Amino acid sequence: IRPISALASTATSYPTTHEKISKPEDTPYFIDNQFVPSEAEKFIELHDPATNNLVTRVPQMTNAELEAAVQSAKKAFPAWRNTSVMARQQIMFKFVALIRENWDRLAASITLEQGKTFADAKGDVLRGLQVAEAACGAPEFLKGEVLEVAKDMETRTYREPLGVVAAICPFNFPAMIPLWSIPIATVTGNTLILKPSERDPGAAMILVELAKKAGFPDGVVNVVHGAHSTVNFLLDAPDIKAISFVGGNKAGEYIFTRGSANGKRVQANLGAKNHAAVLPDCNKNQFLSAIVGAAFGAAGQRCMALSTLVMVGETKEWLSELAESAKKLQVNGGFEEGADLGPVISPQSKERIESLIASAEKEGATILLDGRGFKPEKYPNGNWIAPTIITNVTPDMACYKEEIFGPVLVCLNVDTLDEAIELINKNEYGNGTAIFTRSGPTAETFRRNIEAGQVGVNVPIPVPLPMFSFTGNKKSVAGGGASTFYGRPGINFYTQLKTVTALWSSADAISQKADVAMPTHS
Ligand code: NAD
Repeated sequence: IRPISALASTATSYPTTHEKISKPEDTPYFIDNQFVPSEAEKFIELHDPATNNLVTRVPQMTNAELEAAVQSAKKAFPAWRNTSVMARQQIMFKFVALIRENWDRLAASITLEQGKTFADAKGDVLRGLQVAEAACGAPEFLKGEVLEVAKDMETRTYREPLGVVAAICPFNFPAMIPLWSIPIATVTGNTLILKPSERDPGAAMILVELAKKAGFPDGVVNVVHGAHSTVNFLLDAPDIKAISFVGGNKAGEYIFTRGSANGKRVQANLGAKNHAAVLPDCNKNQFLSAIVGAAFGAAGQRCMALSTLVMVGETKEWLSELAESAKKLQVNGGFEEGADLGPVISPQSKERIESLIASAEKEGATILLDGRGFKPEKYPNGNWIAPTIITNVTPDMACYKEEIFGPVLVCLNVDTLDEAIELINKNEYGNGTAIFTRSGPTAETFRRNIEAGQVGVNVPIPVPLPMFSFTGNKKSVAGGGASTFYGRPGINFYTQLKTVTALWSSADAISQKADVAMPTHS
C-alpha cells in the first residue's frame, strides 16, 4: 500500500503551502477498505493549479480492477443491507465526528489540488458534512407507512436499498459532492462505488480513510479512478443499479442516456448560467457585496455562481462601484493569508475562459474590468484570471450562451421586472437565480414567475441545506429533474418501496368460494 502525501498526513499534519512535492506519489484506489496501487498503464497527471507543479498521478484503472471494485461492493451488500438501521446510524455518527476532526486536513487537500482558498475549501467540506449529519436521521426517514385497508387487512410499505450504486463527481467541490452520495447511499443500506474527479480525488481519498475508521465494513464504500473509460465501465456494469452524476452537460446528458438505456436509475445535476436580477429599490451595499462574492468566489467555479447580472432600470449606473469592489479582491494562492480567490483548475480551462472573454469583445460587448494577464508575484506559473466584468452583453453572444465557469460576470440591461423575468426564463438553464429588492410584492412576482429551481431573495447563492433538496431544473438537470440530490428525494433515489398487503383473519371468516373478480378490499 502506497499512500499519497495527503493520506500519509494526519488530522494535525498536512500540506499547508504550494511548495513543490519532492516525490509525488501515485493516487491509489480503495477497495475492501484497503488503499491499493493500480497496475494501470495510463496515468492522469494532477497539477497544483497555483503552480502547475505535479501533485500526484491518478490511474486510469484497468477493467479487471474496476470489476474487482464492483464485486467487492456486491459481496458487501447482503450483510450491509441486513445491518440494523441503528447500527448504520452509529457508524454515520462516527463518520461525522471524524470529518469534523479532519476538517482542516480535508480543506488543505482541496486547496492543493483544486485551487480554491482554504476558507472556501472549509465551506466545501462543511456543506458535505451537513449532508452526513442529516443522514444520521435515517431511522426516522426510513420508516414506511401502514394502513388498515379493510377489516383484518393491512397494507404497509418498506423502503429498501437498491444494491450497488455508483457516484461520478465533478472537480469543483471535491468534498461536498462525494458527500452528497456517501452518507445517503450507505445509510439507506446500499454499497457504493465512488468515482471522484480525476482532477482532484484527494479529499475523497481522505473521506474513505475516515469511513473505514468510522466502522464501515469492507466493500461498503469503494473508490475507483479514471476518466471516460471508467465512467463507461460503471454505466455498463450489470451489477450497478443506480448512478448519481454531477458535472457538465456534455458528460451528464450522455451518462443519463447510456445509464438509463442500461436500465439503471440515474440522477444527474448539470451545468448552469445563474442570473441575478437587481432592482433599483434594493439595499445597494448588500447587493454589491453579494454579487461580487457570488460571481468571483471560488474563481466562479461553482454551479451556483451568479455569473449573469440583469440590471433593471437605473441600477446600470452602479457598474463603476461594482468594478471598484471587484478590483479589491485578492487573487492569490489559496493558502495565502487574505486570498479571496485562487486560480482556475487548469491551463485549458484558463484558455477557454479567456477565449470567451475575447469573443465578447469581438461581438461588441465592453470589457469593463479585464482580469486577463494577471499573475500574483509568488505564483507566476498558475492558471490565473482576475475578476472580469463584461457589460453591454446581449443574449445572442457566446459569453451569454455558454457556461463560462470562471471569474467572469456578464451584465445585461433591461427596463422592467417583467423584462428581467422574460430574459431569465428564455435561458435554457435553470439551476439558480436571485433577486435583489426591498419590495415584498416584487420578490413574490419574481418567485412565482421565474423558471429556475433554486431562488434567492436577497440571497446570492441559495443552495438548500440538506433538510431540503438540490432542485435545479430545465437544462441544469437530466431527465426533467425527477430525481434530486439529498433531502427526502435523495433518500427516495437510493431506495425502492416494497408494498405488502396482508390478511390476518380467522379461517372461518374466509370464503370457501374462489373470488375471480378484481379484488377491491372494500
Ligand atoms: P465534467 O462533466 O467535465 O466531469 C464530471 C465527471 O464526469 C468527472 O468525473 C469526469 O471524469 C466525467 N466525465 C467527463 N466527461 C466525460 C465523458 N465525456 N464521458 C464520461 N465521463 C465523463 O464536469 P467538471 O468540469 O468536473 O465540473 C464542472 C461542471 O459541473 C460545470 O458544468 C458545473 O456547472 C457542473 N456542476 C453542477 C452541479 C449541480 O449540482 N448542478 C454541481 C457542481 C458542478
